[in-house]
Amino acid sequence: TKFSDLNLNPKVLQAVVDAGYETPTPIQAGAIPHALQGRDVLGIAQTGTGKTASFTLPMISLLANGRARARMPRSLVLCPTRELAAQVAENFDTYTKHLKLTKALLIGGVSFKEQEQLIDRGVDVLIATPGRLLDHFERGKLLLTGVQIMVVDEADRMLDMGFIPDIERIFSLTPFTRQTLFFSATMAPEIERITNTFLSSPERIEV
Ligand code: AMP
Repeated sequence: TKFSDLNLNPKVLQAVVDAGYETPTPIQAGAIPHALQGRDVLGIAQTGTGKTASFTLPMISLLANGRARARMPRSLVLCPTRELAAQVAENFDTYTKHLKLTKALLIGGVSFKEQEQLIDRGVDVLIATPGRLLDHFERGKLLLTGVQIMVVDEADRMLDMGFIPDIERIFSLTPFTRQTLFFSATMAPEIERITNTFLSSPERIEV
């Protein structure tokens, strides 16, 4: 498989070429076509396999092909730690360099005010840790009813850190019709349960 075979938005494909990537990794070749078709994806992959691009590239392609920036966030990426969320945000910037998509990074250790201003302006993508996202929700500053695509990254670490109740709550705040891209390095019973509850006939890709 080549990146040009994957049906990515041309401006996303250009950013991938600019990044110097030549061939999709197995998780990318497996996940991207299904995600682009609107399917739910359950990706079982470790860090270093290229999994960040396997959800970011289809997500931004779908957003770029969709309606222009709405007032409410159109997509949400949940990460277990601030560091990982910041990495995903960096990847997002790299792959959206030829697009006009906007993002807000919602992580702890930063003032609410700056993040609230971004949310108020309207963003396409929220990249967040679960605790900080729910803090914004509790403050009444954030609605997730416009979320069309939701990503959960490193669910096994979410489990280790006790975030599963938060994840369930966040799922329940988003529309039932959303598309979900869910990634975990391992499939513990609790993770299996969550995916059975919140994913809809997912395409399962294990690398
Ligand atoms: P990740 O598993 O998402 O943390 O990605 C691991 C590293 O691989 C990151 O530094 C990416 O920039 C890089 N990478 C992702 N996909 C590809 C690819 N198809 N070809 C070359 N490098 C890649």
